[in-house]
Amino acid sequence: MSFTRPSVALLGATGSIGTQTLEVLRLEGDSFDLVAIAGGQHVSELAAIAREFHVLRIGVAHECDREALTDLVDVDVDVVVGPAGLTQLAQSADIVVNAVVGFAGLPVTMAALAAGKRLALANKESLIAAAPLVANVRSTPGATIVPIDSEHCAIHQCLASSAQRAGYPDVKRLLLTASGGPFRGWSKDRLATATKHDALQHPTWKMGPKITIDSSTLMNKGLEVLEASALFGVGADRVDVVVHPQSIVHSMVEYVDGSIIAQLSRPDMRLPIAYCLGLPERFDHGWGQLDFSQSMELSFEAPDEEAFPALALAYAAARRGGAAPAWLSAANEVAVEAFLADQLAWLEIVPTVAAVMDQYVDDPLSSLEDLMENDATARRLAHGILQK
Ligand code: NAD
Ligand code: MG
Repeated sequence: MSFTRPSVALLGATGSIGTQTLEVLRLEGDSFDLVAIAGGQHVSELAAIAREFHVLRIGVAHECDREALTDLVDVDVDVVVGPAGLTQLAQSADIVVNAVVGFAGLPVTMAALAAGKRLALANKESLIAAAPLVANVRSTPGATIVPIDSEHCAIHQCLASSAQRAGYPDVKRLLLTASGGPFRGWSKDRLATATKHDALQHPTWKMGPKITIDSSTLMNKGLEVLEASALFGVGADRVDVVVHPQSIVHSMVEYVDGSIIAQLSRPDMRLPIAYCLGLPERFDHGWGQLDFSQSMELSFEAPDEEAFPALALAYAAARRGGAAPAWLSAANEVAVEAFLADQLAWLEIVPTVAAVMDQYVDDPLSSLEDLMENDATARRLAHGILQK
């Protein structure tokens, strides 16, 4: 990081995490210099951000948006397009916020780490799919991953109590908390009636549509088990899930002596976003502050793995390793897209992913080309199953 204000690239600037990152940057304008943004669409929103923050480098997903964007931002801007554009932007700042949704965020994760940047990572899908490849680029001098995902950000903070040896031998297990989503406590029969409207009502967090649906199936928690394992180098057999409906305890670390360290706050993504930007400093905004003058109950229960089979699928993918997590994530993206397009019932999302995983053949994932092939195969199989 340079001695001047650290520069920030915010990729996925128009989404839920992107918008909340902009809120943090508005308040901490003297601390950071936003130099690059990107989004998949919403050209007028991108132009408005560029004008407000005087950003001169903008990424869009499609060539056809280049001209409209250039017209909308009056000054001379450098517009880059597609995955190659994301790669360029991810190399261009001290801190790279990956707030793109889905596998499309892969170029950001890989390029930021290969260029030795601080990667503030919201996009869990890229880390999950590419874990063996990310492990290689993470050793680039200067490269660090700081997790924005609230559970992993909590664990990052709780691990400050560890002796910091590789593999964390002083840690017994990581305890990921889950709100349980909108369908917590629903029977299998009732789940068969779940609608898109129901699934989009998350009880404690307001997020983009894909992760909201993943939270309703608990696939989000399954993906987060894989994310935690890859981030902290701890086997998935040492990552457990605990349902905690209040979303106050964001996750916990249990040490071998039985001590459990937890991180608590009100659910507010600006807190982990600001933590990732500011580390080792913290900003004085009190976003997640709890009011102990009011009575408050914290409850914990085991997840219902029968009603929510996504968790078991994720653990199975972790055991197989290699490209299995990439298949899981890719098949899930296709199934969730189909559900959001009213082409699939809620109850069929996870079985669609399971049917793809049944066809997985072990592949150690040795290169980026290999990953792209695996991703394409899993998507093709998922589309095939949906057509039937
Ligand atoms: P969102 O749908 O609200 O926003 C996604 C962003 O990605 C948008 O800016 C969109 O334009 C951009 N994008 C999509 N495709 C793109 C492409 N091909 N090129 C460039 N940009 C593209 O999603 P979100 O809820 O903000 O989630 C973003 C990521 O953060 C996801 O991986 C999600 O799992 C993770 N995450 C989100 C939250 C949350 O509270 N929203 C919490 C934890 C983790
Ligand atoms: Mg999370």
